[in-house]
Amino acid sequence: MEYYSSQISQLIEQLSSLPGIGAKTAQRLAFHIIDMPKERVEKLADTIVKAKSTIRYCSQCLTLTDQEICPICSNPNRNQKLIMVVENPRDMSAYEKTAKYEGVYHVLHGAISPMLGIGPADIRLKELMHRLEKDVDEVIIATNSSLEGETTAMYISKLVKPTGIKVSRIASGVPVGGDLEYIDEVTLLRALEGRIEL
Ligand code: ZN
Repeated sequence: MEYYSSQISQLIEQLSSLPGIGAKTAQRLAFHIIDMPKERVEKLADTIVKAKSTIRYCSQCLTLTDQEICPICSNPNRNQKLIMVVENPRDMSAYEKTAKYEGVYHVLHGAISPMLGIGPADIRLKELMHRLEKDVDEVIIATNSSLEGETTAMYISKLVKPTGIKVSRIASGVPVGGDLEYIDEVTLLRALEGRIEL
């Protein structure tokens, strides 16, 4: 299927490798980019490269940030002794939108999934345990209610319990298999407030 020049084919291929972009959308985007003024294309490419080189993991909670420590971890009004464990930065922003949670977070960047061959060492658990060596009152496990999320929650509670730190799980009310980022703020708050000690 070589109807296009190889440069256009390459552009379509690169775009279609992105999540949520099918072949047709990739084609449409590729032609749109070709038709854009050169300066706008350069700005777009430059923004992508800059974002990639400046955005990194917060050295404390591992969320994405362009600073050494993210704005949440460095906020003196946040309770550093209360740590909510989430699977990814999107779940963290879901809870941030409620504007009611006063603690800090820990981002695992995944969940344990024996099916996909993702074990405890593949997510950021070591970093969590390291943080618990400091003065921490409670760990709130807010992984998704999928099989992977529940497996991860159980694993974490077993790890944390021997430290004597209180460990809790957000309440159900969050539908099974539900991704936190798609759940409304009221449900999220109810799940947080109704959390159960493990
Ligand atoms: Zn942080």
